[in-house]
Amino acid sequence: MTSTARLLIVGPQGSGKGTQGVRVAEALGIPVVSTGDIFRANIKEGTDLGKKVTAILDAGDLVPDELTSEIVRDRLSQDDAASGFLLDGYPRNTVQVGHLDAFLADSDAALDAVILLDVPREESLERLRLRATEQGRSDDTDEAIAHRLDIYENETAPIISVYEQRGIVDRIDGVGSLDDITARISTALAARGIGQLV
Ligand code: ADP
Repeated sequence: MTSTARLLIVGPQGSGKGTQGVRVAEALGIPVVSTGDIFRANIKEGTDLGKKVTAILDAGDLVPDELTSEIVRDRLSQDDAASGFLLDGYPRNTVQVGHLDAFLADSDAALDAVILLDVPREESLERLRLRATEQGRSDDTDEAIAHRLDIYENETAPIISVYEQRGIVDRIDGVGSLDDITARISTALAARGIGQLV
């Protein structure tokens, strides 16, 4: 199934947004644009961008807004994103919201829905500790995790009220089985006339 949905999935670290984002995007036939994945791929391949951002990611800091926004703008201008996409990890603060608004407006587009995955901090931390032992991500140290959660609360959570004012936020309970959560997202999007996921 293909769709024209332009979506953002947002939630604290450990909320499962990466996993749910992939499921939703696959069901709708739209690409996932994950800034974290883009940065990690560049680090792995040793590109100039990768070299520039390695220390930033390891510390759990944010990559500069201008750089991040330029990368996303380039990615969204590729053909496969013309009829829709699911953003994961971007925008992450209100400056980036402004950048995204500006470049979507260039093609008379806007976000259709923001999926907010609600997970209590304790549950997030528990999942992140598990991921740290399973995947060994270099930014899953206790220090970097705590720092990323703080940035989420201080800089990313405020973007939700911006999108709430536009009436496009769907708050989804992120506790439960993977299938249950996907079904909740599906129901919320269907109410907006966006695809049937399951
Ligand atoms: P998590 O949600 O667990 O922090 P992500 O994969 O979304 O993981 O991001 C990993 C790291 O990539 C972030 O800590 C940050 O350094 C960088 N990053 C990702 N998205 C952005 C963004 N929109 N702006 C700035 N930095 C970003």
